[in-house]
Amino acid sequence: MRSYDLPIRVVSMYPDIMNTYSDRGNLLAIQYRALQQGIDITLEEVSLGDSLPVDCDLLLIGGGQDQEQKRISADLNLKANQLQIWAEQDVSILAVCGGFQLFGKWYRDSKGNYLAGVEIFDMTTIAPRIANFRAVGDIWVTSNIKDIGDVVGFENHAGQSYLGPQGSSFATVKYGNGNNGLDRTEGAFYRNVVGTYLHGSVLPKNPMLLDYLLANALNHRYDEDLKPKFSSPSPFVLQAQSTAMDVTRRKSEKR
Ligand code: GLN
Repeated sequence: MRSYDLPIRVVSMYPDIMNTYSDRGNLLAIQYRALQQGIDITLEEVSLGDSLPVDCDLLLIGGGQDQEQKRISADLNLKANQLQIWAEQDVSILAVCGGFQLFGKWYRDSKGNYLAGVEIFDMTTIAPRIANFRAVGDIWVTSNIKDIGDVVGFENHAGQSYLGPQGSSFATVKYGNGNNGLDRTEGAFYRNVVGTYLHGSVLPKNPMLLDYLLANALNHRYDEDLKPKFSSPSPFVLQAQSTAMDVTRRKSEKR
């Protein structure tokens, strides 16, 4: 196995606020997988009023309900410019659910408030005023990013997201709702930025997505296409993924 002497600089945004369904597990999965592959990590947690560090190779933001999204919205917008620069520089980014919604152009919450997004994705999101739609349950998607394949998780959102003409979806829905329950798109991706509705946490049971994010972070750190070869995921991880897929399929077929 190749050894990596430079640590990956990980930034976790609003871990104290945006952590629905233990999205913090994504950070734990990255730390564990990196350790296994001989990659050191430095971690910076950035919340309200904190500045972003100068450098970042991998950035995480989790989900949060409307209230939490409102709390971070102004602060996030102060950081939007730097986030856009990092996206253009191919920093590896994962934004989940409420965080994902705020990586689009705007989110109109269920009270009709417009929250400006950081505009990395060509996407807008609207939560209906009357709670007649809420996407809740297990979800299984197939990623449109080569090498990632199937991804399984849990979704719970009122917001319905629509991609604009420049937007690309992260995945296609096999079972579940995804972005809006209508067009079978799920999430978004732009350069090395992945946005998804999948909680779970999503990374511990989706090793190909985890390795994709880690590989992009290494490529950014070393500024070259390293094509890192990681060891195979543990059989326990693969078992967790296939069990989650079975449960998702069985529940969906019963509906
Ligand atoms: N507040 C958003 C919605 O309900 C996001 C929810 C979440 O992050 N789980 O659409």
